[in-house]
Amino acid sequence: MNAPDPDVILVRYGELALKGGNRVDFERQLANNIRIALESVAPAKVERHWGRMFVFPERRTEVALARLREVFGITSLSPTRRAELDVEAIGKVAEQVLDEALAERTAPGPVSFRVRATRSEKRFALTSVELDRVIGGRLKERNERLTVDLEEPDIVVGLDVRAEGAFVFARRVEGPGGLPVGTLGRALCLISGGFDSPVSAYLSMKRGLSLAYVTYHSAPFIGESARKKVVDLVRVLSRFQPRHSRLWVVPFAASQIAIRDLEVAGYRTVLYRRMMQRIASRLAEREEAQALVTGECLGQVASQTLENLTCIQAAATLPVIRPLVSFDKEETIRLARRIGTFELSAVQEPDCCTLFMPTKPVIRGRPEFCEELESRLNVEQLVEAALASAELVSIPPEG
Ligand code: ATP
Ligand code: MG
Repeated sequence: MNAPDPDVILVRYGELALKGGNRVDFERQLANNIRIALESVAPAKVERHWGRMFVFPERRTEVALARLREVFGITSLSPTRRAELDVEAIGKVAEQVLDEALAERTAPGPVSFRVRATRSEKRFALTSVELDRVIGGRLKERNERLTVDLEEPDIVVGLDVRAEGAFVFARRVEGPGGLPVGTLGRALCLISGGFDSPVSAYLSMKRGLSLAYVTYHSAPFIGESARKKVVDLVRVLSRFQPRHSRLWVVPFAASQIAIRDLEVAGYRTVLYRRMMQRIASRLAEREEAQALVTGECLGQVASQTLENLTCIQAAATLPVIRPLVSFDKEETIRLARRIGTFELSAVQEPDCCTLFMPTKPVIRGRPEFCEELESRLNVEQLVEAALASAELVSIPPEG
């Protein structure tokens, strides 16, 4: 007969991030993000205790565990069994937990272990050192494969003795690290269908930013499927933040036509990008976002020289965050695979930037020349028109 699911998940999080007054915000936000992440898959009660959290899913602990591996701020997780505060009861549960851990070690030969108890309930009869010894001795008796190793054991049986019970665990699953989404504020991510911007979205959420998104679309020159591709990407990314992800789809063809008609083909890409920054800066106000995020990096394509990035940045009224600035393409691709955006990005779709693409884009753009060219456009009117017809798509966190 299978043992029932572990009833509790022990959540550990980064202490380093918890300097000073941030601690309360960090913990409250993390508890909240955990609760929301589990809502649709395995509703759970979350309790905060002294630098750790306990998650009590109503059911489906394994599903909850998998989902929690996507919640930023969590460093590691342990499915945990609860025992009454009584040495005999703790011993029984410890046996069960160790048996489960042993069952996963199919290779023959000895297995080393130790018990590591911590005790915040000081009224408990045994000290943590005594618990280590008593429970450790009991476990060793039961299985001749077992040896005790206090320094580098294969298995650590953790015992956390608290007022509300003893928590026993042996498995430890890595969390994603980072900071809870929302603790560092909000940003607007410029997302295309490429590989880079979804990965930069992931990385900025990992550093505690909550995100809204904007994508520029060249209808009618470019079809509906390009838009759908971005919606699908945001749906994948929506797993990493608790609330609905808001995606602004902004028609961009009018700006592109106006820029094309300047007939300075080499500057088209840079001018497109400047327009994107301008519109995004305005949308950021609606989203109460304090920064823009892009997938730009240095030197990957012709438009991404320091000079061109300077031209582009100059059109933004907010700081531009570029999480990928120093990434090689291979590093980005590897991460894209891990977070589940690779397959979608790999589908070939024309991007809005391919519209009226110059054969020889400028490599070292000059901001003054950009401004001179734009003085021949009605920039404000183009921005207003784009904003007026921007469409908002709201995408729930994918469970
Ligand atoms: P990506 O893989 O994200 O498309 P890239 O390496 O192809 O990036 P570019 O196409 O030059 O680089 O785009 C640089 C950045 O500009 C993108 O990462 C994205 O942040 C933004 N961007 C480009 N095209 C669009 C678009 N159609 N809508 C929104 N943002 C865009
Ligand atoms: Mg691109």
